[in-house]
Amino acid sequence: MKSILVTGGAGFIGSHTCLTLLENGFEIFVFDSYINSSKKSLKNIIKILKKNNKDLESNLHLFKGDLKNVRNIEAIFQAALKKNKAIEAVIHFAGLKSVKESIVYPCSYWDNNVTGTINLLKIMEKYNCRNIVYSSSATVYKVKSNKLLNEKDECEPVNPYGQTKLTIENFLKDIFNSASSEWRIACLRYFNPAGAHKSGLIGESPLGKPNNLYPQITKVALGKMSEIKIFGSNWPTPDGTGVRDYIHVSDLAEGHLLALNYLLNNKPQILTLNLGTGKGTSVLEFIRIFERINNVKVPFSFSKRRDGDNAIVVANNSLAKSILKWIPKRNIEDICKSGWNWQLKNPNGFNK
Ligand code: NAD
Ligand code: UDP
Repeated sequence: MKSILVTGGAGFIGSHTCLTLLENGFEIFVFDSYINSSKKSLKNIIKILKKNNKDLESNLHLFKGDLKNVRNIEAIFQAALKKNKAIEAVIHFAGLKSVKESIVYPCSYWDNNVTGTINLLKIMEKYNCRNIVYSSSATVYKVKSNKLLNEKDECEPVNPYGQTKLTIENFLKDIFNSASSEWRIACLRYFNPAGAHKSGLIGESPLGKPNNLYPQITKVALGKMSEIKIFGSNWPTPDGTGVRDYIHVSDLAEGHLLALNYLLNNKPQILTLNLGTGKGTSVLEFIRIFERINNVKVPFSFSKRRDGDNAIVVANNSLAKSILKWIPKRNIEDICKSGWNWQLKNPNGFNK
């Protein structure tokens, strides 16, 4: 059984991926500081597996630690070695992800995301672990037109968060070039992750006030916020509101499994792949679909455009489809249904 280190495994995308990895026979070592998550997500993964008659608790090992502390990272590699289960690959989710916060606190974003990743790679080198799947983002692109974004398009992030994501991609290229016959690296650029596992036991549970559209829609529907402020009504899109590529978090989790298996079964290489559906949905369409599918009201009003926003950000996902044989299976209705199920069952997420 292969041992995988999952940094940030208690978080939104990490927890869904941990579940998929366990279901597919991996032993996982989760490393998380819980700065934006809760251990409850990992406990609920075990519950989901038990409900499906799979008792895999012994394949999940939890370590609380911070990537800013090299010793914390080394401890998990040591612990795996002691169990005779050397870590074979890393899926690296851990990072801070709020665009707004990154503008106010650039030092903590660069330190956490970039220094944290450098620390991780130092220890990976030391323990001869040279396989990594990295969580990048569509925010790295310079969006110039309305065409689907492909991996060769120009990158020029417009905020510190995006800068850290692109810097890490560039750092990983340098790492690859330093020993190109040894490293297997996949940078996965996610578009807009949303939705939740169908069980309603894991989902997005932001600790502060969410800034992204989707968690706000569920909060408004629940009556925890009075309305959505739609940023701009005059974008060059069919209904004047921004268009994004919302990807179900369970499809993303499956993308990680495929990327990991691809790396482990192919020659050393570095890959950069978009993970999106290739289909755009406007803010207004999203709200309307959410209201119809869940039979709820989501009041909104229009406000001015948000700085740094773009009209249309949608993936060309043909590379991930052809290389990984990854096909996103869930649509926007599934995203609305599953996210609402999660929010209804857990009105406060994992928080009390
Ligand atoms: P999340 O905040 O739910 O998960 C990140 C996890 O990393 C959390 O559990 C947090 O506690 C942990 N963490 C953060 N800093 C850490 C550190 N220094 N040491 C140890 N643990 C730390 O976020 P998510 O939505 O699951 O995102 C996961 C990754 O995907 C992030 O790297 C993010 O930048 C990237 N990403 C997310 C989105 C999105 O919209 N959710 C889009 C594109 C890319
Ligand atoms: N959006 C909005 N109101 C909000 C948050 C987001 O109208 O309170 C819009 C935003 O302008 C964009 C879309 O919703 O068109 C998705 O925004 P989000 O912040 O979720 O993702 P990103 O902009 O990073 O793709």
